[in-house]
Amino acid sequence: MPNWLGHRTFTIKEIEPLSPRVKKIVLEGEVRAEPGQYVMIWVPKVGEIPVSIARELNGETWLLVARVGRVSSAIHSMREGDKLWVRGPYGKGFTLRKGRVTLVGGGYGIAPLLFLADRLGGLAEVRLYAGFKSKDEVLLEEIFREAADDVIIATDDGSYGLKGFITEHIDYEWPQYIYTAGPEQMMVKVVREALRRGIEVEASLERLVRCAIGICGSCSLDPLGLLVCRDGPVFDGKTLSKIHDFGKYWRDFDGRKIPLIH
Ligand SMILES: Cc1cc2nc3c(=O)[nH]c(=O)nc-3n(C[C@H](O)[C@H](O)[C@H](O)COP(=O)(O)OP(=O)(O)OC[C@H]3O[C@@H](n4cnc5c(N)ncnc54)[C@H](O)[C@@H]3O)c2cc1C
Repeated sequence: MPNWLGHRTFTIKEIEPLSPRVKKIVLEGEVRAEPGQYVMIWVPKVGEIPVSIARELNGETWLLVARVGRVSSAIHSMREGDKLWVRGPYGKGFTLRKGRVTLVGGGYGIAPLLFLADRLGGLAEVRLYAGFKSKDEVLLEEIFREAADDVIIATDDGSYGLKGFITEHIDYEWPQYIYTAGPEQMMVKVVREALRRGIEVEASLERLVRCAIGICGSCSLDPLGLLVCRDGPVFDGKTLSKIHDFGKYWRDFDGRKIPLIH
């Protein structure tokens, strides 16, 4: 039974460190989300954060959690068998399409792209481009090779796969649709190029999401006033081209606009 705020408890079935900063957390049970949607994870007495669904398969839900601050560190200190309080799923996810589909992800931002690749299987031909800082930060390569038809990996320092930013290696001649999730500067380049070439594109934005139900305004995007928590996190290219904050600003805990630096 959910509590009065809508949280359900899920038992942590498995925890696997994937890189120095990122852990895979497998929950027992499915939250019943669509690719691109997220859940709010509450750690009592610490706080609550949004986390994308990375996979829902065979009665399990996968999350990839990067250690950033208070709540994500608390999640990192949990053990198998512990309970997580989860509300959601929330938000608008990716549109499923048939045809030739390119996914572009960076860092833990690839999480929703795994769920998307799973659901596109059989519908579309899927090529994944994934960028990471270095070899020890590469996430879930083998799993992605099973879920997608083709996987191209690049590292900024060239310690694994192709060298340089992943955006330097994308073949834009091939796809009919492009989906991207990860660092915003990466997504800005992908969306700009896709729009220039007339390719339909969707991107998943990250902002401070607190209430997740469209009330608090901490994730609002100027000048349209769209909310990442409710109208996103996935937005299409035409909408993104009208959002001045895309690639430029996010809001801090006090609602102040802060330049995005990656
Ligand atoms: C829709 C959505 C999906 C997400 N999916 C994932 C996921 O799958 N895996 C994952 O690891 N993370 C994900 N995140 C990001 C995650 O929610 C933040 O890293 C988390 O809220 C940090 O909380 P914390 O308490 O650990 O850190 P805090 O102590 O709250 O923050 C530490 C510092 O990090 C910065 N910060 C915190 N949150 C953000 C943010 N959202 N954007 C920019 N800077 C921030 C601030 O400067 C803050 O002072 C997602 C965010 C959104 C909005």
